[in-house]
Amino acid sequence: MSSGKQSKKLKNKKRGGRPKTPYGYGGVRPQKSLGQNFLVDEGVIDAIVCGCGADEGALVIEIGPGTGALTLPLSERAGFLAAVELDESLIEPLRVKTFGSDNVRIIHEDILKLDIDGLIAEIKDLYDINSVRVVGNLPYYITTPIIMKLLETAHGIDSITVMMQKEVADRIAAEPGERAGGAITYSVHYYAEVSKVTDAPRECFYPAPKVDSEVLRLDIRKEPAVKTDNADFMFKCIKTGFSQRRKTLLNALSAMEGTDKKKVSEALAASGIDENRRAETLSLAEFAALANNLREE
Ligand code: SAM
Repeated sequence: MSSGKQSKKLKNKKRGGRPKTPYGYGGVRPQKSLGQNFLVDEGVIDAIVCGCGADEGALVIEIGPGTGALTLPLSERAGFLAAVELDESLIEPLRVKTFGSDNVRIIHEDILKLDIDGLIAEIKDLYDINSVRVVGNLPYYITTPIIMKLLETAHGIDSITVMMQKEVADRIAAEPGERAGGAITYSVHYYAEVSKVTDAPRECFYPAPKVDSEVLRLDIRKEPAVKTDNADFMFKCIKTGFSQRRKTLLNALSAMEGTDKKKVSEALAASGIDENRRAETLSLAEFAALANNLREE
């Protein structure tokens, strides 16, 4: 062996690199295109399992079980666990891993296409379920669509505990009106109360991603945080305001279909909002008032 090769090997060992088989982790070759960064840190796994609110009365829907790091510990706490995985090659190993656990169902499906309401109704029909908890170490490339699908279209979910890229978590966890927020901040806070479960630095995964992560828990509100005449229109205003966040609200919203500067200026005045303010400075209640007044114009 050449000395070059030898020093490369020693370097890997020094870094504490996981010994790699030709098949990667646990016999599985992680697929980047599916966001496969598997959790290998027991502390983070414990924090998610203990922090997600699952108990013997809970239906847990796990998104992207992967090689099952969370699946078995979740199934031990939950009344029933439905794990939804897109990668067909992981389905059989997951069924083997959970063999003998009669409260587990492994579902081969894209979470964005799954009829979540139908699944919840079916399991509630069969088992004594009193809460529904969604849990997952999300594939980062579809974090926002998954969260928005769960918040906007699914019914009967009590909480969502999910791992995501730290920057996205910071944006979601910001209070509406704080600079760190974005359009998604308003959507999430409208439907849910947000709390942080744990940090998950990149070393907690195999393979290690290029970014750090964080786990947030979203507890779904019984009623939305603010009253609005038309939530869709309020979110349209929020998205338009944030799509041009450097512009004043007056200028950004005037470009919306069906409005003009005069209408927006009057709606801002009726809502008690200075027309030079930008979207990122408004509270959720201010956006609700503005949207109501703009529709009435
Ligand atoms: N839960 C495992 C863990 O923590 O080690 C794996 C997490 S990995 C970040 C994301 C998982 O989501 C992968 O197993 C991937 O195959 C799966 N996935 C990707 N897109 C998906 C989709 N649209 N629907 C369901 N699962 C998906």
